[in-house]
Order: sequence, then structure tokens, then C-alpha cells
Amino acid sequence: MKDKIIHAKDCKCVVCGKQAEVFWPCIDPDIPTNPYCRECLKKEQAKLLIELHKIDEKYNKQKGQQQ
Ligand SMILES: [Zn+2]
Repeated sequence: MKDKIIHAKDCKCVVCGKQAEVFWPCIDPDIPTNPYCRECLKKEQAKLLIELHKIDEKYNKQKGQQQ
């Protein structure tokens, strides 16, 4: 019997093609996850934080305009 669990280490990083270390994001089983190496994961997480920050700013601006 083959192990059906896919390990990140058996995959290649979707960004740079190196051996992946983790799947990300794994928030929701409905959201597809991609394998990332540690370096690219950091970059992706930083990107996400920036995106979230932008959304926050936008929301705060809208709130400011309404008042
Ligand atoms: Zn990578």
C-alpha cells in the first residue's frame, strides 16, 4: 500500500522549484494549497500581510469619509 498523504517535501516550491517544506495556506480545506520552500513562504506571508494592511487602510479611509 502506498502512502496517500502527500508530503510537502515530495513537492517542489511553486515559486522557485526547490524542494518544498510546507503547504500554504492551509486555512480552509476548500482553498487549494501550494507547496512552498521556507524562503518563498516567508515572502508569500509578507505579501499577504501587506495585502491585509491595504484592505485595512481602504476600510479606514472609507470609514473616515463617511463621518
Ligand atoms: Zn521557493
